[in-house]
Amino acid sequence: MYLILFGAPGVGKGTQAKILSDKFSIPHISTGDILREAAKNGTPMGLEAKKLMNAGQLVPDDIMVEIIRETLAEERCKNGFILDGYPRTTAQAESLNRLFKRLNISDYALICLEANDEEVVKRLTARRACKSCKAIFSLSEIENDIHCPVCGAENSFYQRKDDTEEVIRTRLEVFKSSTKPVKNFYRNENKLLEINGLNSIEDVTDEIIKGLEKTFSSK
Ligand SMILES: [Zn+2]
Repeated sequence: MYLILFGAPGVGKGTQAKILSDKFSIPHISTGDILREAAKNGTPMGLEAKKLMNAGQLVPDDIMVEIIRETLAEERCKNGFILDGYPRTTAQAESLNRLFKRLNISDYALICLEANDEEVVKRLTARRACKSCKAIFSLSEIENDIHCPVCGAENSFYQRKDDTEEVIRTRLEVFKSSTKPVKNFYRNENKLLEINGLNSIEDVTDEIIKGLEKTFSSK
């Protein structure tokens, strides 16, 4: 099973990636990680990518897809993978699709964890971090506490800059505008799962699994 994962800020993409990875025995692959790995291992494509990155240039799609191909050939990907960070454009989606066709892969899907803007803003602006141990809490968890429940520091809670309303709204806009064309691409292929990411963790997982069954049985 070849899953591509999108997630709005604050919807717990990492949590779902981990659950799905365990459930289907497929690794969670971030394109940033495999790029660095290929560069470190000195594969031909990795060296090429390294040269470009060192020169401050973007790694072109054909090299990126080649690195994904090399990763797919690894033993750990024998059951598939969860891809994170790619594709970001329709051109990239097309090149990834060509690779899937070449490898006779048809059980792929794009999972998009959606979130209602107002709820994300409400959720993230209610976060407080501890200055001393960096743990993050929601306001409801630390209501009347003056001590951090994790490290015991006194009056150490503060709101991180990332959790202010303006920053959150900007990130949501960037997420929506950049994912829209890619989502449309997979929608046209009947390979798009839109999931409400703000439900409980278990409900989100259930909805993803049901959606995948439907997607793969209706081809
Ligand atoms: Zn603390």
